[in-house]
Amino acid sequence: MSELAYPYEAPASQALFDRAAAVTPGGVNSPVRAFGAVGGTPRFMVSGSGPYLTDADGREYVDLVCSWGPMILGHAHPEVIAAVQEAVARGTSFGTPAEGEVALAEAMVERVAPLEEVRLVSSGTEATMSAIRLARGFTRRTKVIKFAGCYHGHVDSLLAAAGSGVATFALPDTPGVTGAQASDTIVLPYNDLEAVHAAFAAHPGEIACVITEASPGNMGVVPPLPGFNQGLKDACAANGALFVSDEVMTGFRTSRAGWYGVEGVVPDLMTFGKVMGGGFPAAAFGGRADVMAHLAPVGPVYQAGTLSGNPVATAAGLAQLRLLDDAAYEKVDAVSAQIQSLVTEALGKEGVAHTLQTASNMFSVFFTDRPVRNYEDAKAQESFRFTAFFHSLLSDGVYLPPSSFESWFVSAAHDERAVQRIADALPAAARAAAEATA
Ligand code: PLP
Repeated sequence: MSELAYPYEAPASQALFDRAAAVTPGGVNSPVRAFGAVGGTPRFMVSGSGPYLTDADGREYVDLVCSWGPMILGHAHPEVIAAVQEAVARGTSFGTPAEGEVALAEAMVERVAPLEEVRLVSSGTEATMSAIRLARGFTRRTKVIKFAGCYHGHVDSLLAAAGSGVATFALPDTPGVTGAQASDTIVLPYNDLEAVHAAFAAHPGEIACVITEASPGNMGVVPPLPGFNQGLKDACAANGALFVSDEVMTGFRTSRAGWYGVEGVVPDLMTFGKVMGGGFPAAAFGGRADVMAHLAPVGPVYQAGTLSGNPVATAAGLAQLRLLDDAAYEKVDAVSAQIQSLVTEALGKEGVAHTLQTASNMFSVFFTDRPVRNYEDAKAQESFRFTAFFHSLLSDGVYLPPSSFESWFVSAAHDERAVQRIADALPAAARAAAEATA
């Protein structure tokens, strides 16, 4: 067994991590879970209930990750579990159409006005990959504009995030992505409409779509400046390109109708995941019916999936969406605001330079006193303070995302007791952040 990096770390999790590392690269099935940015032993969780997670050592944490967004009602919500159990008992996959997927699509279309038609897939990555293919097939163009710091899953062409200069062709960020794939991706600085206009001017008739996180949470929370998304929409419309709004993170979280419900900018295509799956692998893309009509079997753009619209996943997603009424969002918003002010108060008391940014109930803390408007700003923060802050909270039973470039997520199940535990843990964490050195 490897040596424990932190005195309070959990030996059972460490033993599992060692076992995992022998059979899985880095011991994890998604890189950020490995605690690479903060160090220490990733916690192996064995159960979740409401706002709490319990790890293999039997320690309970208040969860501020919520499975990276999906668990907006908290863990193991009884009605979601009941819907899943009922669905499982009827069989786990049919490979045929089934009513559950129709009902989930209807619920989504009912909530999000620009969503005229929707196709279900199994992950957010599949959703954005398919939306990009459809945009290219529809426009018969090749290039895609994305923004530095926006994450759209591990789609080859969308992993290109380097090169933030205007209309610079990106280099692949990862081996395995070919130069050809990356060269069709134009990476621009977020919140910079001039860069977008310049890219359209430099590539007339070549740009299939602009894809953006509806309100980015993958460089920490960096909301669009007023008019930015509308500006993207207008630039796309003026240049014959499609505007693709990635709501995988914000969809059905930032409001009943996601970020669209907050801002009202109408995209041509949208992508979804996380909340709509109720903790199961369900995701979707959709939008304008005339664009969606280009998809097989109606149109020529191929897209498919053995487990797409899986009956258990759709039952979970539908149960969760049905429970997400106005009162549930009010609850999530209120508890988010409460935690935000506790964090600001604790860091303020210790004189730690920080900027807390919000997008409805999503929020994150940057260790800088400057507003963060794009990825460059986000990278300029003092991340070493986050590491100290994170580990202090972890040792006191509060589970934050293990990186300073992530949104924090709360749920409607975060009650007074959970908030009190966060309040009790924050002063020491703020002190640790203040005392941290690079
Ligand atoms: N798009 C956004 C905005 C995301 O935040 C993510 C995942 O975090 C994805 C796409 C990819 O989703 P998945 O991890 O389900 O493939």
